[in-house]
Amino acid sequence: MRLSQYFLPILRDDPKEAEIVSHRLMLRAGMIRQSSAGIYSWLPLGYKVLNKIERIVIEEQDRAGALQLLMPTIQPAELWRESGRYDAYGKEMLRITDRHERDMLYGPTNEEMITEIFRAGVKSYKDLPRNLYHIQWKFRDEVRPRFGVMRGREFLMKDAYSFDLTKEDSVRSYHKMFASYLRTFARMGLRAVPMRAETGPIGGDLSHEFIILAETGESAVYCHRDLVEMAPPPEDIDYGSDLTPYVDARTALYAATEDVHEPERFEKEVPKDKQLSARGIEVGQVFYFGTKYSEPMNAKVQGPEGELIPVEMGSYGIGVSRLVGAIIEASHDDAGIIWPQSVAPFDAGLINLKAGDAATDEACEKLYRSLQAAGLDILYDDRDDRAGAKFTTMDLIGLPWQIVVGPKGLASGEVELKHRATGEKIAISPDDVTERLR
Ligand code: ATP
Ligand code: MG
Ligand code: MG
Ligand code: MG
Repeated sequence: MRLSQYFLPILRDDPKEAEIVSHRLMLRAGMIRQSSAGIYSWLPLGYKVLNKIERIVIEEQDRAGALQLLMPTIQPAELWRESGRYDAYGKEMLRITDRHERDMLYGPTNEEMITEIFRAGVKSYKDLPRNLYHIQWKFRDEVRPRFGVMRGREFLMKDAYSFDLTKEDSVRSYHKMFASYLRTFARMGLRAVPMRAETGPIGGDLSHEFIILAETGESAVYCHRDLVEMAPPPEDIDYGSDLTPYVDARTALYAATEDVHEPERFEKEVPKDKQLSARGIEVGQVFYFGTKYSEPMNAKVQGPEGELIPVEMGSYGIGVSRLVGAIIEASHDDAGIIWPQSVAPFDAGLINLKAGDAATDEACEKLYRSLQAAGLDILYDDRDDRAGAKFTTMDLIGLPWQIVVGPKGLASGEVELKHRATGEKIAISPDDVTERLR
């Protein structure tokens, strides 16, 4: 992509409304534009990152055996009356009436709708287990939308729902999601710590939140320090095997969000030098809630003896749009964002220091073509602008690599390759750049 033809509305000054660094940097880097409180448009650069995060989530859900589908954003109130949550959910639910005076709502979550889909399609225990998920926009009329996409009113969520015959099977499904979450977040360069959590309006009695430690996090959390460093499950993890060891290794150590924190246990179980009390960002949550929806909504399957059994369920959310902000909170410096390679909007930026100079233009064009041919996604700053401004923009948008091409370097057969994360710069022959970044 040539920057001269791109849409990148960079802000030079800090926007006043942004209280935290990720919100500030997303606005300044031209990633999002607020439409109304807690509702955003995703501009080309931001949308690319959102899509990369979504792709990782899809790959890891699929590997864990979940099946992707897509449910609508607008739901009939009827379903929520069946589960009893229509009145219970309160003001966070955006309620809508259509032209026929039918009560509708913009979905804040999808337990009811998926249960309806399941009960219509599955009648026998032989068709279990199943895990169905979608990635769809949700709306919650948050009391205090703030921090940009971290607490939006409209936000993108991955939500999966598992269906099993027995509690034991359901816990196995829970473990699959638990392990796949560790891998999902690790692939984005994040160390997410699973912590015991309150079940809230979803209900149920077993739940973990996946927390990224950050000073700007909205919840207070307490855990054993060793959990933060624990390596994620390996890439070749077998989801058909018993995953209890991965879960046990983590749940054996104390970790709790403030809602379920037990100060005495914390003091007793965790040595002083291992006690970590910090702030965290909730990037995902998993729930086991048994028959909370299948009972009232009559989602039953025929068991081996012909008897009707309400299915055991769990649900598993990931804040896809919140993750964009969370990754920036975890990875930035004074100059701007530092994207982990896996979610970066482009693989590298190519900076032409003297646009209009025939030799520099030619060297850049050649590099641009060669990098693209190698499958790399490049943002080529071909504009006629000051070098300083170009460097500032590249640092701000945080691409992993910068390739700087100018007449001086070219005279000695070199361009500069800068690693955004470390700031390390090396002089390199233009012919070697592509091989180096491939
Ligand atoms: P929070 O405690 O932050 O309000 P929640 O517990 O209400 O989140 P869940 O119902 O567990 O949210 O939804 C699953 C995931 O969706 C959360 O873990 C979070 O990452 C994301 N999420 C929830 N609310 C928002 C929001 N208002 N804006 C962006 N992401 C959100
Ligand atoms: Mg909430
Ligand atoms: Mg929460
Ligand atoms: Mg939650």
